[in-house]
Amino acid sequence: MNAEIIAVGSELLLGQIANTNGQYISKELALLGIDVYRHTVVGDNASRLREALAEAEERADIVILTGGLGPTDDDLTRETVAAHLGKKIAVHSPSLENIETFFAKSKRAVTASNRKQAHHIVGSNVFLNQAGLACGMACSNERTHFLLLPGPPREMKAMFQASVKPYIKNLYPKAKAVRSRVLRFFGIGESSLEDQLKDLIETQTNPTLAPLAEEGEVTLRLTIKEQDRDLAIKSLDDLECKVRQRVGDYLYGYGEDTLMGKALELLKEKEWTVAAAESLTGGLFSQELTSLPGASSVFAGGVITYTNEVKENVLGIDSLLLERDGAVSENCAKKMAEQVKEKFKSSIGISFTGVAGPGAHEGKLPGDVWVGVATPEGSFAKNLTLSGSRSTIRIQTVKHGAHLLLK
Ligand code: ATP
Ligand code: MG
Repeated sequence: MNAEIIAVGSELLLGQIANTNGQYISKELALLGIDVYRHTVVGDNASRLREALAEAEERADIVILTGGLGPTDDDLTRETVAAHLGKKIAVHSPSLENIETFFAKSKRAVTASNRKQAHHIVGSNVFLNQAGLACGMACSNERTHFLLLPGPPREMKAMFQASVKPYIKNLYPKAKAVRSRVLRFFGIGESSLEDQLKDLIETQTNPTLAPLAEEGEVTLRLTIKEQDRDLAIKSLDDLECKVRQRVGDYLYGYGEDTLMGKALELLKEKEWTVAAAESLTGGLFSQELTSLPGASSVFAGGVITYTNEVKENVLGIDSLLLERDGAVSENCAKKMAEQVKEKFKSSIGISFTGVAGPGAHEGKLPGDVWVGVATPEGSFAKNLTLSGSRSTIRIQTVKHGAHLLLK
């Protein structure tokens, strides 16, 4: 069973908006066990849409179109599909009632162009729009099913969930759903992870494994095609177990988990608070942590001590230490963490000092970073050698900080 998606709209071709509808529908179809082979984007142009329909029909069992069901003249998906199938257009009464009720509520008269949103292709299966006005529909010829959905993502998603999903499930009751589990790793590179899992990646066919590098992290997607939910989960569990035996030390979470989110969870669990002294990160750690709900129960506060004078005056770092070791040093990082812990009366102090670049500083190269951590048991600092732009170095530094809190 395979599908293609045609997104209609000149604004997509002009680059004004991204085709998020295509992305959403692809994800949902995978869950239904339908393979998506192609995405096409066409402008609001009848002849080019006709071409796209004719091509897609040659290949696909299902063609899902989004956009162009609205009231304006450039909305021509419905008319073009009808012409392609040699079918007529007529008013769909329940959809017209829906539109009339909507306008009655806002005490406005229904215009002719709005009535157009209740038009359907004769013989089609109509999908009522629960989040807007234009109805969607499904119609077919001997070869292919055509499903027409509105362009606005909110309307499209509501219609997909309420009507398209059951429609497709009914068409292909035996389709094997694709289920994925994403494992998230930190502290290991993509190639190193791949090396350690090489044989699994090469020999596994169902489920499969696919690593992906993502902003200094690596994710591993385990994917299985299986109708039975329990069997699918069992196979994914087994494979995850094999993966953990080899690279489990670097695994920190699943799916949408983030390092900072996990750090927050752990701090909460231990009923610990943290305070931050930030130099090269300029408050980024505090910003990331406080952007999460629930941060107030673990975050005591933070200071940005960018210059040596402020490190001295605000945190009380010894000027001799700064002269002797420099601000980008193990001793400075440790002292900053200890002092901020002391001053903010938190369970843990964390500090960031280093060179974000692009130039060198105190003779140290960009990417030379120290993260200090002070705990009730004592303090330590970790040296990082990061690469990339100023922004990458700062973001990576914060991730390492969050990761240290997980230890
Ligand atoms: P309307 O009734 O609003 O005219 P429509 O079904 O005619 O809806 P379009 O006119 O093509 O749909 O698009 C309406 C809006 O929906 C666009 O301006 C855009 O913001 C959004 N949209 C359309 N297609 C997509 C898409 N493929 N991905 C994301 N957003 C989209
Ligand atoms: Mg429109």
